[in-house]
Amino acid sequence: MHAGVPDGNENIRVHVRVRPLNEQELARGDQSCLHIAGDARTVHFVGQRDEVRSLTFDSVIGGSSQPQVFETTDAAQLLQDALEGYSVTIFAYGQTGSGKTYTMTGPDSLALSVDERPPLPTDESPLGLIPRGVGALFDLIAQEEASGRLTGGCSVRASYLELYNESLNDLLNPESTNLQLRSHVKTGAFVENLLQVECESVADAMMVFAEGTRNRKVGSHALNKDSSRSHSLMTLHLTRRDAPHQGGRVCFVDLAGSERLLESHSKGEAAKETGHINKSLFALGNVISALADSRKRGGHIPYRDSKLTRLLQDSLGGDGRTLMLACCSPSSHHREETINTLAFASRAKNIQNRPVVREN
Ligand code: ADP
Repeated sequence: MHAGVPDGNENIRVHVRVRPLNEQELARGDQSCLHIAGDARTVHFVGQRDEVRSLTFDSVIGGSSQPQVFETTDAAQLLQDALEGYSVTIFAYGQTGSGKTYTMTGPDSLALSVDERPPLPTDESPLGLIPRGVGALFDLIAQEEASGRLTGGCSVRASYLELYNESLNDLLNPESTNLQLRSHVKTGAFVENLLQVECESVADAMMVFAEGTRNRKVGSHALNKDSSRSHSLMTLHLTRRDAPHQGGRVCFVDLAGSERLLESHSKGEAAKETGHINKSLFALGNVISALADSRKRGGHIPYRDSKLTRLLQDSLGGDGRTLMLACCSPSSHHREETINTLAFASRAKNIQNRPVVREN
């Protein structure tokens, strides 16, 4: 069992992050509809008629501290797991403006200037989980080598993928037009022709991260895309030279805004057909519901309904390790989306893992 995680599914851990009320919300006089309990694991949600619902997670984190997120979620242990060959996924879920990008990357203004050594996980810099994770991973590799537990080092290759309207874009090679989602019997889903850049050092990995993040922004402006509807997946593929067949990986996922799901529920099938909602996010909700529904245990899980769920199949319900950060605004103005996010996170907590049965 990981430190700080008292119970629940070890393979999927679900943490809630509540950002502070922002200036606009304060100016409007919005009340906070979320209150974090003293155990730092329970959140009390106050509904429209002052009814209170209490939900418990692996942790509930308030405030703006980025090191606190790294520490509380025990992200360092996940990096260790990846080095031991696990497929690790760290993803942020929530409505647009709830703090997903802040949590994964950092404040908007900082993302593009990231080209040097990232902060130590404990530094009070506002950089998010990806740069902290990159720094901590290279430190871990160095430590393991120094202690003799890792002989010959470990190759780190980075890829950075964007999924927009079910189309795949290589953020490290934006001109590429021949990406194909394929399945491999042993290693699961992968994207053929996606560039993987060898990173010799932490500086290399940070450059790749900055470049992909910049390309995502530039592309969304140039092509007039609604960036809140795209998913981004930055993956670090690890190959230990002492165990080349036991490749682990860490995939950081910044998901599209979940408010589209709310739209779909109010408008039903019609919304789906006219493309208002994000197919992948919708499918992710269905996969999580199916995995969490004990009556369906052993039944069909609709991984193949979207590219995102195919890519995350190993992490969700399989033997990978998954960390979900459910990001919420505390504002009473966003009550409906917030309870939706918390309900989604609760379902994810109930996922029962089982061996992956791969479909080609
Ligand atoms: P999302 O990615 O979910 O659309 P963002 O991460 O862009 O949301 O957050 C929206 C705004 O709120 C940004 O300006 C961001 O810097 C700010 N913000 C988000 N979370 C926090 C936090 N925990 N502390 C301080 N500011 C935050």
